[in-house]
Amino acid sequence: MILNVLNVLLTILLASTNADTTARRSKTPTSNKSVLNVGTGIYDVTGPAADINFMGYAQMKQVGRGIHFRLRARAFVFESTVPTPPLNDSRLFAFVSVDMGMGSSAVTNRVLELLDAEPTTTGKFTNDNVCISGTHTHSAPAGFLTHTIFQVTSLGFVKQTYDAFANGIAQSIIKAVGNMAPGSVFLGQGKVTNANINRSPTAYLYNSQAERDLYPDGNTDKDMTLLKFVNSDTSSPVGMINWYSVHGTAMNNTNMLISGDNKGHASSLFEKDFNPVGTLPGKGKFVGAFAATNLGDVSPNINGSFCMDTGLPCEMEHSTCNGKNEMCTGRGPGKDMFDSTNIIATRQYEAAKEIWNNANEELVGPIDMRHTWVDMTNLTFKAADGTMKSTCGAAMGYAFAAGTTDGPGAFNFIQGSNSTNPFWNLVSHFLSKPTQKEIDCHHPKPILLNLEGINFPYPWAAKVVPLQLIRMGRFYMVSVPSELTTMAGRRMRKAVADEVIKQKLSTNPVVVIAGLANEYADYTTTFEEYQAQRYEGASTAYGPNELGGFISEFKRLIADMAAGVESQTLPAPPTYLSKQISLAPGVIYDSVAHGKKFGDVTVQPPSTAVVGDVVSVVFCSSNPRNNLRTEDTFLAVQMLSSDGLSWVDIATDGNWETKFEWNRPKEFEGESFATIVWELPLDTMPGTYRIQHYNSHKSLLGKITEFSGTSNTFKVHTK
Ligand code: ZN
Repeated sequence: MILNVLNVLLTILLASTNADTTARRSKTPTSNKSVLNVGTGIYDVTGPAADINFMGYAQMKQVGRGIHFRLRARAFVFESTVPTPPLNDSRLFAFVSVDMGMGSSAVTNRVLELLDAEPTTTGKFTNDNVCISGTHTHSAPAGFLTHTIFQVTSLGFVKQTYDAFANGIAQSIIKAVGNMAPGSVFLGQGKVTNANINRSPTAYLYNSQAERDLYPDGNTDKDMTLLKFVNSDTSSPVGMINWYSVHGTAMNNTNMLISGDNKGHASSLFEKDFNPVGTLPGKGKFVGAFAATNLGDVSPNINGSFCMDTGLPCEMEHSTCNGKNEMCTGRGPGKDMFDSTNIIATRQYEAAKEIWNNANEELVGPIDMRHTWVDMTNLTFKAADGTMKSTCGAAMGYAFAAGTTDGPGAFNFIQGSNSTNPFWNLVSHFLSKPTQKEIDCHHPKPILLNLEGINFPYPWAAKVVPLQLIRMGRFYMVSVPSELTTMAGRRMRKAVADEVIKQKLSTNPVVVIAGLANEYADYTTTFEEYQAQRYEGASTAYGPNELGGFISEFKRLIADMAAGVESQTLPAPPTYLSKQISLAPGVIYDSVAHGKKFGDVTVQPPSTAVVGDVVSVVFCSSNPRNNLRTEDTFLAVQMLSSDGLSWVDIATDGNWETKFEWNRPKEFEGESFATIVWELPLDTMPGTYRIQHYNSHKSLLGKITEFSGTSNTFKVHTK
């Protein structure tokens, strides 16, 4: 009898550790024998906070004028301590979510060089085991992508942006490797309601009714998939990543302050809860990333799109007002874009907290990965219906120039005013006319920009792009260098899950898409949505079969993983770094009015303030590009310690409640001012406060000198 019971127990035990192999439920987040090492790291990637165009809206006028809150790279490193059969090699992987527009293979290359130069990470990382995914904030500096189309409004390549991203990402991985320790990863899933809307709902309706019926959430994904990282020795949480579909466009194209938008702010809110009270942003050990996924047609402007002149809803099919696109813009739920960003961030943060609390399924079992470089301009594959399909050379349709309701078109190409853009003037004569074959391949897309044919001064779009598959137990992540729409993402996740099951890797896989990862190749719609030729379809660069092409490639990687063989790949493509053209001017010199010094205060704070007040102080300042103050700050809100002997930093330029606003009254002169703004949060302690400003000025001879300024003190009272 006892023997029978033991037999039954043994059978159950074997069954549960064997097939689906990899998922195990437990209330207590520890296992007897850890098979994983995990590490997390965070680093500043803010870049130049003045005079540099922001990446995303392609709006010439949207150039940096200070910082709302700093941008961060958030790195997660995990390693299986037992080799993965049958290749039996070491399985180490780094995922980095970065407050930047999107991934860039040129940035990744530099990150890998920097990691190789660092003793603790030498030889550990290649393209195979690093995924760098941009959160898609549209309020971060541009100029880090090396294909021409992404440089038109930034006036070319911007080395300062490129270096800030590459250095910060490398440092975040180095920090994560430095604190690797035995750990566990738990999987959680849940929903976020009321934080996204489909900005091309008429295109979504081109998908068949039968397919739409599979998804009761409607025309956007509401799912959030979350990984929880716990140190096994101390049982303390060390990190979190989640994926939820929404664009980084809660801050609109009039914003000139660097910002991580809704994803960056949600990360700060989450990290604050897990780091000691008083930890300044970016300085804590716990790292929480809100990462990008298939957000192609997904907007945070959930109140819908309206005409700026009449206040009426826009015409739906073309998102126009009186036939014009530029008056039709999306509206967020808040009273202004800051409030909307806060609301969309808070909804994601609150959902993540709940999912975190219930994330009890430990991911055990193999870690494995595959990476391939694919020529997306020339990919032939067998579609589900058995016919052969092909992708096309990169080209953009007319609707690309119209933009979206998150940022209506300001791409001056279509408006024909070439004279306002020197970069455009330089290259415009070298544009390409599509051949009939190219026109047929992209049909029904009317080709506006035949990127494939334009190679001056260097290629306008990527030809060869990186694709990547990561596995941890029953969790699978596919990295794509694109913005997949809601249905494109659903179709890809389903295809990947079906193939994983077919190849007997897992019986119940959970699949996420790491979006805008490792490179940028615009958008990917479904074949059906492509027919509508909204912005997303017009920006599906490789033609109507692009999604099918990506899916066929992921099936290949899954089959290779199941067979235990390495995946075939093309060589890494060139990054054209040595050919880059930069036309954005640097800082010439800084000056200060007669009788004033750098750091002098021209507007002092009020003598008293209460919670909810906004305190502003104006300083004589200089261009913040002279010294980016990486991992540091341009401002400090300081409180006098209780013994009255020292000043304690309460907030920096990384905090939500502060702003560093920079302005230069006369565009071609050296005089400039910094306005430091502090909105007193609810938990502000009564006491004596002051505002500090730090910056560096440049002389005509190029000498850079640091300075600081200090405001008068003021008293904060309780109400
Ligand atoms: Zn986008």
